[in-house]
Amino acid sequence: MTSNTHLPDRIVDRMERIAHVGHWRWNVKDESLFWSKGIYKIHGLDFQDHTPSIEAALDAYVPEDREIVEKALAHAIENKTEFTIEARIQRPNGSLRNVIVHGECECNEKNGLIAVFGILQDITHVKQQEELYRLSAMGSSSAVWEWNLETDELRWAGRSAQVLGYDLNDNLPKSTEKFFKELLHPDDRDTLKETLIKHFTKTESFKIECRIANKNGEYEWFSARAQAQFNNYRKAIYVCGSMTSIQALKEIQNQLENSNTDLANFAAIAAHEIKHPIRTIGNYLELIQISSQTLEEDNQDYFKKAIQTANETNVMIDNLLEYASLENAKLTLDTVNIEKLTKLIIRSLKQEIKDTQANITIEPLHSIKADEIKIKTVITNLIQNALKYASDRPIEIKITMIENKDEWVYCVQDNGRGIDDKNKETIFQMFERADNIGNTKGTGIGLAVCQRIINLHKGSIRVESEINKGSTFTFSIPKEP
Ligand code: ADP
Repeated sequence: MTSNTHLPDRIVDRMERIAHVGHWRWNVKDESLFWSKGIYKIHGLDFQDHTPSIEAALDAYVPEDREIVEKALAHAIENKTEFTIEARIQRPNGSLRNVIVHGECECNEKNGLIAVFGILQDITHVKQQEELYRLSAMGSSSAVWEWNLETDELRWAGRSAQVLGYDLNDNLPKSTEKFFKELLHPDDRDTLKETLIKHFTKTESFKIECRIANKNGEYEWFSARAQAQFNNYRKAIYVCGSMTSIQALKEIQNQLENSNTDLANFAAIAAHEIKHPIRTIGNYLELIQISSQTLEEDNQDYFKKAIQTANETNVMIDNLLEYASLENAKLTLDTVNIEKLTKLIIRSLKQEIKDTQANITIEPLHSIKADEIKIKTVITNLIQNALKYASDRPIEIKITMIENKDEWVYCVQDNGRGIDDKNKETIFQMFERADNIGNTKGTGIGLAVCQRIINLHKGSIRVESEINKGSTFTFSIPKEP
């Protein structure tokens, strides 16, 4: 066996085996065909039992592809040029191999054809991967896309068109520029751009909900996910993603939101309606108490208790209304001077502080971005509780604030009666109170309101406490709520 290369045959064989390639040469003069070992391997033949011929070589291609190979070969010979085509070879055992056939003409100085030299590359493994990708895209109920960032080419796979409300994948935009302009809802463009930039620069996962227009121009909600491929310089070069319809979910969510709003409105109206008669009952009781000086001591006490209960019921309704109003509340974010706000709250609690003879110290506090009215409610609740749930010791309250990397942490520390471990979690739930409340009045709503407000700020609230030693209530708020 002779080959046209200056490299030793064994090196050529090895290279061809690793690269899944082979080379061939068809000599015009005697019409002989040379095959390297790589070609025999691709054809599934033993080089010792088989002498190649151009006819047999062409016969190895599946009938539809044989025609393409013949035409390409004939065209190259006629024009003394080269060709590259993709085709399928059928091995004697019936299995198919996908190959790339490359050929080029060798001519003498008078441009007379001497031979055609070629390479055969087995790409079956690549084709199998592609087929797997194609099948999984077809089997998916999501629109599947690939985006080449270097060319801005956008390709749609599987049943993308049907999922997005079009007839054919070819009707879908072929560049992201067009996708942004034609399919994406204008209000979602900035969010999508920001999410992409974050994914490319910080490699945060890509996940977004956005509205896409169908062929009738109607928008539907989709959940999009994607993953970029990065080069060695951490630059995104390619992105693959999917989009799944969440329209039905969104509709249910809307219905739920509407019925929640209806319910909240109903609760607010009902609460107002109840408040009025309760206040009237309280007023009448006070009048009876004043005008009936002759009442026995016992009855006087009953009246006092009835008036007190009416007042407490009103406070509870107010608290409930506040809690309900936070359900779908929006924040009005501003820079809040927390030190100034805390001092203002302490001034408004002057009477309670005087009555309890509490000593409150405030360390330097900072300004944060938050909803001032809502944060005022939280701080007021925490300080009021520190005053309410005291022990026998003189009350000492310390207010501090610390700065973490991404958040501010506000602490109210007291030396009061403390909270048992089993109550530490539950006290943040509606109507839940600790076991050691004694006679201290309360509704068990304050901390639930605080938690809702802090959650709205995307922060967290917690307590550390030791029974009979004191408690520290801490809430943290992200620097960018
Ligand atoms: P309320 O004070 O009206 O009962 P909260 O929701 O504000 O409602 O508090 C829930 C419960 O948590 C209180 O009833 C009390 O048992 C406990 N608690 C709150 N703050 C403190 C504190 N500083 N020290 C001890 N217990 C507290």
